[in-house]
Amino acid sequence: MRRDPFDNILAVLVTAGAFMPLARADVHSMPHPPPGQVATTESLQREASAAKQAAVNAIDRRAADLAGLSDRIWAYAEIALREHRSAAALADYAEQQGFRVQRGVAGLPTAFTATFGEGRPVIGVMGEYDALPGLSQQALPEKAPLVEGAAGHGCGHNLFGAASLGAAIAIKEQIAAGRLKGTVVFFGTPAEEDIGGKTYMVRDGLFRDVDAVLAWHPADETQADMTSSQAMVDLAVEFRGKAAHAAYDPWNARSAVDALELFTHGVNLMREHVRPTSRMHYTIVAGGEVPNVVAEYSKAWLWLRDWKRAEVDDLLARVRRLAEGAATMTETVATVTVQGGNWETLVNEAGARLLHSNLLWLGPAVYTEQEQAFARQVQRATGVAETGMFAGVKPLEGQQAEGGSTDVADVSWVVPTLHVSVATSPLGAPWHAWPVVASGGMSIGHKGLQRAAKVMAATMVDLYEQPEALAAVQSEFKAKKGDTVYVPYIPEGPPPLPKD
Ligand SMILES: [Zn+2]
Repeated sequence: MRRDPFDNILAVLVTAGAFMPLARADVHSMPHPPPGQVATTESLQREASAAKQAAVNAIDRRAADLAGLSDRIWAYAEIALREHRSAAALADYAEQQGFRVQRGVAGLPTAFTATFGEGRPVIGVMGEYDALPGLSQQALPEKAPLVEGAAGHGCGHNLFGAASLGAAIAIKEQIAAGRLKGTVVFFGTPAEEDIGGKTYMVRDGLFRDVDAVLAWHPADETQADMTSSQAMVDLAVEFRGKAAHAAYDPWNARSAVDALELFTHGVNLMREHVRPTSRMHYTIVAGGEVPNVVAEYSKAWLWLRDWKRAEVDDLLARVRRLAEGAATMTETVATVTVQGGNWETLVNEAGARLLHSNLLWLGPAVYTEQEQAFARQVQRATGVAETGMFAGVKPLEGQQAEGGSTDVADVSWVVPTLHVSVATSPLGAPWHAWPVVASGGMSIGHKGLQRAAKVMAATMVDLYEQPEALAAVQSEFKAKKGDTVYVPYIPEGPPPLPKD
């Protein structure tokens, strides 16, 4: 998912120390909250429990293993639903660590769960590992494909999967040592960039017995996320007419391309009459073969987005009418097929506050001069401000929602979901682009991986050790969800797996 740079001025302030977290000594001297009081950011900055410190140490101890896993997945660069080696690398490692691994869940050969422990609470953590087509890139600060035209990790999901598994393993060790009680589940969630593997995993009930789940995302800055993501629906619009010679007997033809043109014209005129928050984008998938055959088939592929699913549903109804209208005008037949989609994220602010307090407890990222030089070179090459890596933590207040959708959002409607973004790529450099691949394949990415694993593990420890913190997360979830019944956009039937 894409996360735009937030605010360069703020970023500079944070980097310069204006929002520097408390030194550890200060944290240790902070008073405990009065009994019965719900934990606050301040109260959670009290000294780390033995389990929390041990969990963070476990991630440090496995730094080389986790970086190695990430680098393997980075090199495999497998796109949605083809992440066979990437999923196996993570699942095998989890199995070696003593997790009970179930592969191929929800009808997705590259989805899996890895479970350790028993009883409640059940805390989950999600990991992604799919790459993006066409973004192959070496770990260099200039555009330089590894394999011309091949896929690359332009969204940093190689780091995402490895860090989340690292957090799960850190918790597993604490359960095994008797320092924590309950169950930890790692969800290996494929195909975020295409069909949204998590929506199928939600539909199959894999999150049903989970008390809370965490996820992170690589980004160009670090924050516990207080903002939502956009709801979206993915649909195909097809027109079927009649073919004939375009000059010899065009009166026998009914053009599917005419219908497609009228349809897209309608979509574009409608732009003025939708909310400013609505986004509609499309590609032409089929538009005829040669000019002298009137096309009998055409197809457009659209994504409709807004910040609320109800608005997206409204857009979808209007686009259906546009398709019918275009078909009527051209005496063709329109077919509209919803292929998938995501709801907007149900933000859990109590969870974000826990994550934030642990980000502060962990302290800022520390980059070497070579890493900062690498980042500035990437920024120079992409024409953005040469500020280097974002090392601090953005405040919870004043975060601005950014465009983009994710299948994490679908999970957030069935289980309280805590989400954090961690810097893995130079501030402001383009996302879903070569800089993310480059920095995700070297030490800048590895540092982000470590930080993400640690902040999630530390927050998971809080959820196990502080029943009041988990209760606050859950009661906010229940209050915000209300009586809404989550129904995924995905169609009935198995996921659309690749045929080959
Ligand atoms: Zn992503």
